[in-house]
Amino acid sequence: MQASKLEKLKQVLMEKRRSLLSEVRERKTATMEASSDGIQDIADQASTAYTKEFLLSIGDAERRLLRQVDEALEKIKGGSYGLCEKCGEEIHERRLEALPFAKYCISCQEEEERR
Ligand SMILES: [Zn+2]
Repeated sequence: MQASKLEKLKQVLMEKRRSLLSEVRERKTATMEASSDGIQDIADQASTAYTKEFLLSIGDAERRLLRQVDEALEKIKGGSYGLCEKCGEEIHERRLEALPFAKYCISCQEEEERR
């Protein structure tokens, strides 16, 4: 992959990382507000508990995504970025542009999803 293209994808990944982190931070604040709300025993407060759970579950998905972004950035550093983790072939650039933290090439991804 061309260095300029790699650099561009790295910028995209770092931007994604930044926005994810700020979203997670905002949500954490919102979660804390949802649980404090002046209520001592939130176990009795079904709706509050639900809201909190909902917010935390969103956080999980974001954490996963964040890890994928981090892994991709590590691979850029290590020089193995853009290679499929399964078959070792280069992942198509178009695919990386759409999904910069893709781990697998399209055919391996499809195979994974069929399972
Ligand atoms: Zn592959």
